[in-house]
Amino acid sequence: MTTALGALFDRPRESRERIITAMRHRLFPLPDRGSSFFIHLSELCPVACEHCMYSSDLNRKSTKDSLSPDELDAAIGFIDESRSEKLNITGGGEPFLKFRSVLRLLERVNVPRIEIVTAGYWGTSEKRTERLLRRMDEALLRNPYRPVAMLRLSIDRYHIDAPRPVRIEHYGTITRVWRRLSPGFGLGFRSIQPDMDVVDKALAAELGATIEPVNEWNRSVVMDDGRVLPITFNVFRLSGKAAALRDDLSAESQTIKEYYAPYESGSNRLTLATKVNDAIRGTYAASTGVAVTMDSDGTFWIFGGTAPDRRLTFNGQSFTAAMTHFFADPITHLLVEEGLWYLADLVDILDPATHAAALGKNDVAALVEDLLAPEDVRLAVTLLAARWAVARGRVSFPGDLWIQEIAEGTDDLAARCATAIREGRRHGTAA
Ligand code: SF4
Repeated sequence: MTTALGALFDRPRESRERIITAMRHRLFPLPDRGSSFFIHLSELCPVACEHCMYSSDLNRKSTKDSLSPDELDAAIGFIDESRSEKLNITGGGEPFLKFRSVLRLLERVNVPRIEIVTAGYWGTSEKRTERLLRRMDEALLRNPYRPVAMLRLSIDRYHIDAPRPVRIEHYGTITRVWRRLSPGFGLGFRSIQPDMDVVDKALAAELGATIEPVNEWNRSVVMDDGRVLPITFNVFRLSGKAAALRDDLSAESQTIKEYYAPYESGSNRLTLATKVNDAIRGTYAASTGVAVTMDSDGTFWIFGGTAPDRRLTFNGQSFTAAMTHFFADPITHLLVEEGLWYLADLVDILDPATHAAALGKNDVAALVEDLLAPEDVRLAVTLLAARWAVARGRVSFPGDLWIQEIAEGTDDLAARCATAIREGRRHGTAA
């Protein structure tokens, strides 16, 4: 049996494809709606922070760095169809480089809540800031679905000291203009845990405001007119450019294990793939839908729920078609149901070095991709996930008796896969 299993690891990519092709669903309803939808409008960013998890600056990393207007309209149709509970315009780079796309989303998308994350590099003058905030406000007013929206400014030492810095005065300018205009969207901030009690105090001094504690990682900046600006301090991540930082601030940050412990839905069960991300309120609310991330090149996947080789490129497909594709992979079943730590614990058995490197980044957004980067590990997890799904009556492998036999087995499959990975690497058959 060990030898037979080892044969699958001779060609891990083909073997994984074989499992996916053979898998048939039994009465299992696919998710028919979204939870959090993350859209990245640009991979570029003029600020170029030294700690950027996306390694963003103004150098293109791919041939396609943003969606065309037509593609964005199609993506809005996809978001609407997903009936997501929240749209996060964020990440990958600076969304305000695609300000027209921001406006298009604000005026058209049908979701209850929208959060727009920006570095606020554009807050260099009151005039410019007022023009941008007014246009956002007008776009939101045109939206017939009346979503509740919030603009969140990223503020930390790296933004303030970046090659094109966002100074405390810029955050002050944006806040003062926002207060004067009183637009139909809120204003908040997000930062990193090592800068707690530093940037919030500097911001309060700039605004003549006071700081109120909310909970362990949230503060309120209370202005003299009583308005409250939330500020959330996220964990310090070592992904992207931060991996090469000289000033590693990890000791001043929680680990992702600690930070996400309150959001677990059971012991060691962190299913971010089905959560609505509302970090600014200190919650990750449960949802019946799945979280989706769409990159600026149109690639999309279930957040924390899709293996790296299973991502899709958006070409106008329906939400149902996308879910059918993602859930054809047993790994998606496992991640959506059991969550990130379950996968991490499996990989710790299969390949401790990959596990340590992935956890060491302290970044949940990169975790699945990093844990499943080696093809042999991905195959092993596919086999284990197939067994998990068969045991729950979700799937079967009627046309492939060998895979069905492995999936129905009761032996220690994780240990056997770990041996197969070690032997395969010793013989140079997989990486
Ligand atoms: S502002 Fe945000 S996207 Fe831009 S470089 Fe800094 S961290 Fe990255």
